[in-house]
Amino acid sequence: MPENQKRAVIYCRVSTQEQAQRDALAVQVEEAQNAVKSNEWVLVDQYIEMESGTTKHGRSEYMRLLDDIKDKNKFDIIVIKSLDRLNRSAKNWYLFVEELVNNDKLLYIYMDRAFYKTDDRLISGVKAILAEQYSRDLSSKINNAHEYRQKNGTTVLINNNTYGYVKNPDKSVSIHPEEAKMIRKIYRLAAQGCGSRTISKILYQDGIRNRNGNQLEESSIRRIIKNPLFKGVVVMNKRHFDFEKKKEIKNPESEWIYHQGLVPAIVEKELWEKANKMLKLSAAQVKGAGWQKKHRELYDFSGKLICGECGAPYYKTFRRQYANPEHVIVEWRCSSYLKHGRKKQEVAEGTNQSKEWGADEQKLRRGQITGCDNIHLKQEGLERMMRELSGQLFAWQDEENMIRRIIKILSEVLLTGETHLKKEEVEKNLMAVRNRKSRLLDLLLDNTISKQGYKSKQKELEQEEQRWTERLERMDVEEEKIRQTKERLVGIEQKLRADGCEKIQAGLLMQVMDHIRVFEDRLEIELNPVALPGVASVHGWIMQKPGALQKDYLQEYFIEVPTARYFADTRIIKKKKKESIPDILRKEPFLTNKELAKRLDVTFSTLRRWLADYKKKGQIYFDKTGGKGQWRVRE
Ligand SMILES: [Zn+2]
Repeated sequence: MPENQKRAVIYCRVSTQEQAQRDALAVQVEEAQNAVKSNEWVLVDQYIEMESGTTKHGRSEYMRLLDDIKDKNKFDIIVIKSLDRLNRSAKNWYLFVEELVNNDKLLYIYMDRAFYKTDDRLISGVKAILAEQYSRDLSSKINNAHEYRQKNGTTVLINNNTYGYVKNPDKSVSIHPEEAKMIRKIYRLAAQGCGSRTISKILYQDGIRNRNGNQLEESSIRRIIKNPLFKGVVVMNKRHFDFEKKKEIKNPESEWIYHQGLVPAIVEKELWEKANKMLKLSAAQVKGAGWQKKHRELYDFSGKLICGECGAPYYKTFRRQYANPEHVIVEWRCSSYLKHGRKKQEVAEGTNQSKEWGADEQKLRRGQITGCDNIHLKQEGLERMMRELSGQLFAWQDEENMIRRIIKILSEVLLTGETHLKKEEVEKNLMAVRNRKSRLLDLLLDNTISKQGYKSKQKELEQEEQRWTERLERMDVEEEKIRQTKERLVGIEQKLRADGCEKIQAGLLMQVMDHIRVFEDRLEIELNPVALPGVASVHGWIMQKPGALQKDYLQEYFIEVPTARYFADTRIIKKKKKESIPDILRKEPFLTNKELAKRLDVTFSTLRRWLADYKKKGQIYFDKTGGKGQWRVRE
């Protein structure tokens, strides 16, 4: 073996999509071997994963590779098909790259015919941010389409597709018990402030499916909530068929006819109204007005918050502040709480609730399902926390510099199609061929060359002329593409400048944050440094201040934040509110529940729970004697 010849190993694994293809693994092995050969390396070992999967057992070849990387004398280069071969988890990828760098090994990706550059990570980070932006734009478009369809295409009369009811042979309508249960659940969750996405998730987790056996779509849920049918109101004359125009025309609302009692109600009117109010609220949130939208885009915690008490994910809810109904409060709550209420909640006998929860409620009583007492987290507090964190994590020294850097990276990625030859050179070559052609004709006319010789030479030159012409045309197309890309880059640059760095920081932070585990007294933020370009100190530019976050701190991959700093007040305030009730009622014994709830700025149900506690202990009772009755407080 020549002394300078590099030693290579190959690592092959079939991706999930490729599994369906025959001989995919064999093909990959051959391709990798060819890559080694064509680069004139020496193949010294092969790591071929026979089974796919992320379990340690399935990854034994990978583990062997990881061990062998540390061996200085074994190999210099690892050859793989693409980056996704190596690791599905970003954390493992980080560890892998560390090993690579520490042991002076190179990674060759034969699909790209290139060595893995540490820059790639930075690029993928920036790309992820932009991709995220694009997908967000896309999803808002999809949402609009849903809404448009809803506005334009629902029939209110019962047809066979209407959930909750069955049409009897005599054309009367009766309630479908199972589906009615589902509908009541939807309304209850909506009234609690869950958006349609959250409701869809909860139903799915509880094993509730649509009639096709699939997850209920968000649009179906919204349609159900908006349908007045479920409070027993049938709306007729909503639209008419215009024969002249040959299409259905919507009638003005003043012409709609409401029929009450034609169908049995599935939910109470109050619940229906509340659910619809909340639905509008969450729809407004999604569309987002003013600053709220801006902030929502900065930090979306969906899927990131996990309950430290019970392990369930946190879901987003909306509610209005009681004292100030204009103010919308976005709050994250443990999904166990949303589904089953508080942990030690006793469900009152004979109430609507106990009937509606059915089997769940019974399980609840048997202790098989428990709710959750963990704290709710206000979006406001989370955002405050994120802003402080990103200030600590990324200390951008120079915003302008960063924007230029990003654009430079993107240019390198997006403008790879630029040809090495300049257009003038191609034009020069074309001219030269044409000159040679005319000279050739001169030679023929001078009888310097034979007709035979002329023909074969001319054919050759014509072919060459053709090649240069085509090349020139291709370059024109290429040039146009590059022009468009450059235009896009200018757009991106403007966007970056307009949005400022906060957005990028936020994007990076959200990207690097695996999840947040919620405990009553603390949040444990688990980081995933791989997702963050530059953390491995390959690029100093993100971690401008080395002291901002210690490397060993990152190696632990988590940050602990005391909840008191951002959220603490709610519990203490609530406790104080509850304690103030006897005093208030002593002074104003004629307050209604509603007035009292408003005074305390708590929801009606919270107040009812507190009052029930006081009543149970016998501290407060409602004295009905003497007309309207009044509150009595026992000392
Ligand atoms: Zn929980």
